Amino acid sequence: MNELLAAYRYTSNNWAQIEASQQCGCCNCVELFKPDEIVGWTGLTMDNMNDSAAVAQQTAMCPRCGSEAVLGDACGFAINANFLARMNEAWFQRTLIRRPSVKT
Ligand SMILES: [Zn+2]
Repeated sequence: MNELLAAYRYTSNNWAQIEASQQCGCCNCVELFKPDEIVGWTGLTMDNMNDSAAVAQQTAMCPRCGSEAVLGDACGFAINANFLARMNEAWFQRTLIRRPSVKT
């Protein structure tokens, strides 16, 4: 469980991590995709969009389901279907955290 806990924090403020990754996946829909498929990010406003630190703190949105539950392999964990399934089970099928809201 500890590695899952460690991996979960990489689902937020992960712009730099995603940029450095070769493979990404979503803990919500358990889909695998490439970093360049991610087109939606949260965290920037009109006030900080020119702030490079704020840019690097953006959070990726899944290109498949829109959840802020994206992990990239640059976080140090192998991003594959098995790992994502374990993350999904730990967080989304139990009640450890609230389910992230899906933005449409
Ligand atoms: Zn997803």
